[in-house]
Amino acid sequence: MTELTVRAWGTTGFAQPLEPVTITRRELRDDDVRIRIEFVGICHSDIHTMRGDWGERSYPLVPGHEIVGIVEETGPAVTAYREGDRVGVGCFVNSCGTCDACLQGEISYCDEGPTPTYGGYDGDELTQGGYSQAIVVRESFVVRIPGGLDPAAAAPLLCAGITTYSPLNHWGAGPGKRVGIIGMGGLGHVGVKIAAAMGAEVTVFSHSAAKREDALNFGAVRHVSTADGLPEDLRRHFDIILNTVSVDLDTAAYLGLLRFDGALVQLGLPAEPLQAPARMFTQQRRSLSGSLVGGIRETQEMLDFCAAHGVTAEIELIPAELINEAYDRTIASDVRYRFVIDAASF
Ligand SMILES: [Zn+2]
Ligand SMILES: [Zn+2]
Repeated sequence: MTELTVRAWGTTGFAQPLEPVTITRRELRDDDVRIRIEFVGICHSDIHTMRGDWGERSYPLVPGHEIVGIVEETGPAVTAYREGDRVGVGCFVNSCGTCDACLQGEISYCDEGPTPTYGGYDGDELTQGGYSQAIVVRESFVVRIPGGLDPAAAAPLLCAGITTYSPLNHWGAGPGKRVGIIGMGGLGHVGVKIAAAMGAEVTVFSHSAAKREDALNFGAVRHVSTADGLPEDLRRHFDIILNTVSVDLDTAAYLGLLRFDGALVQLGLPAEPLQAPARMFTQQRRSLSGSLVGGIRETQEMLDFCAAHGVTAEIELIPAELINEAYDRTIASDVRYRFVIDAASF
């Protein structure tokens, strides 16, 4: 066993277009799994990172944290997976393992910051993501893709799926609960499907009416076009509202849509601070919170839930040659609803 050289797509400098690059994957450690990648989703955060919105990184850099593939080889201490298993890797590939969050399996909230799947450091190794032929990951950061899920359409569940499932789960979405989802892009459309599958009554808030029919098909009971303002009859209506968009919204107005003990949960990262008068919280004991991805155990739970309920992302499968175009189209909201790259094209 030695380091493995693999073909990938990434950038060789700050805010450059993506192009074919070659990277190496580490020699298998005892608890490592090497995965031949089949499919990888294009997440909005890949675009922010690669186009330089979040600052300069080390290059070459290969993005991708919605990874599905087949186990090719395992280290001697690996027990959960064997050659031929279909598995997934999401946003993180390591964490400290000893802080309170890690001990609870909530690696997203690791005190030292979890190691991102790309663009972070695992020891002194720069991590490289899933726009590549293969990846080497610690067994404990790998999840199993259940047999019933289409592997390409399951890829976005590794980020978009868990990022919406985790807060829905934490704040108790289920029968008798009313859930609002702000924004129906890559994240939001999966959130609608998951919340509906949990048995909640789902309303979508979207800036235009164009996605109304899709929203209802995904399981929502109502679609609100926010260009017309927020409807009066939805005041004090919701138990949970997930905000999946990163534009600056009227936080106070959305808080007003929460009923007793309701929570507005921020998933996107708008530029401006969130603001609302204190009475919006004291009234109805409302809360404003946020959520980041989710843990590995919960990711597995989410995948099993999605398999049981037939939930996957709506995808457009593309070859690597179209990545830069797909980035432009994603920024223009011209995708229904997530691009997934066929890794055979790397
Ligand atoms: Zn993501
Ligand atoms: Zn930790």
